[in-house]
Amino acid sequence: PIQTARIMDGTSLAKRIVDEAAAKAAEISRRTGTRPCLATVLVGEDPASATYVRMKRARCAKAGIKSRHIGLPATTTTAELIDTLAGLSSDSEVHGILLQHPCGPHIDERAAFEAIAPEKDVDGVTMHSFAAMSFALPGFVSCTPGGIMRLLEAYDVELAGKHAVVVGRSAILGKPAGMLLLAEDATVTYCHSRTTDLSAVVREADVVVAAVGQPRLIRGEDIKPGAVVIDAGYNPGNVGDVDYDTALTRAGLITPVPGGVGPMTIAVLLTQTVQAAANQLGMQHQ
Ligand code: NDP
Repeated sequence: PIQTARIMDGTSLAKRIVDEAAAKAAEISRRTGTRPCLATVLVGEDPASATYVRMKRARCAKAGIKSRHIGLPATTTTAELIDTLAGLSSDSEVHGILLQHPCGPHIDERAAFEAIAPEKDVDGVTMHSFAAMSFALPGFVSCTPGGIMRLLEAYDVELAGKHAVVVGRSAILGKPAGMLLLAEDATVTYCHSRTTDLSAVVREADVVVAAVGQPRLIRGEDIKPGAVVIDAGYNPGNVGDVDYDTALTRAGLITPVPGGVGPMTIAVLLTQTVQAAANQLGMQHQ
């Protein structure tokens, strides 16, 4: 079988978006004398989480965005974490706040997220941000779904009337991805761990968004010829949630893993941090 799919290049699109964010960050610094600043908060010493935070801070630095890191011990309580986030929420030198998660089983993550002021919720994790997104009101979107939408837009994927199947329904990925697709007039179906016949649903999809975290769960044979396949999954060994090799021979457009959705997530985080700074420094109409 021959490859039918065009590869969606998240790396180069993300680079363009980061360059735009960097230009805007420079303009903010020049006009206000203040550089946009992202606070990153990490509880404990999980190596993967620490790597993610380091990557995000390094990208910030390259884009001219300051970052301030707060590393808290693994023994931190929910109340202490909330105190830290509330402090950052009222600190005028901080424009965006990122709480790296998972925070550990003893932390009430939802309560912690809600301590982030909506205007600083550049990772789009609060109930306020989710509601604003759902009502199509101004606000920050969850970064990975936001990145998926930017990819679809950049590749001119027409969504109105299309059947979009989102596999996964987490609060930060699957669920908001479906809401954003709905806002673009797609007909949206969610699948999850209790879905009885995943293959049958995927076979009907014009657009598949895989957001599960299980290597090659989506069978290539189930991809409808010409469908758009967005694989947000990231599993050990650089493997996505879609059986990529087979999907390549059926899809019309497909994201690689890595180099598809991953880089877009950070690009949206930086864009939203710069936007938050612009808003807070009174530049929202520029
Ligand atoms: P979660 O574990 O929070 O959610 C996984 C979802 O998949 C749940 O809704 C779950 O269903 C569903 N699911 C589990 N098993 C199946 C199955 N057999 N069939 C159908 N659905 C199933 O994960 P996240 O949403 O946080 O992350 C998903 C993936 O995306 C991971 O690989 C993660 O690494 C990656 N990711 C990538 C990012 C990026 O920047 N590229 C950012 C964030 C995540 P149920 O609700 O019923 O339990």
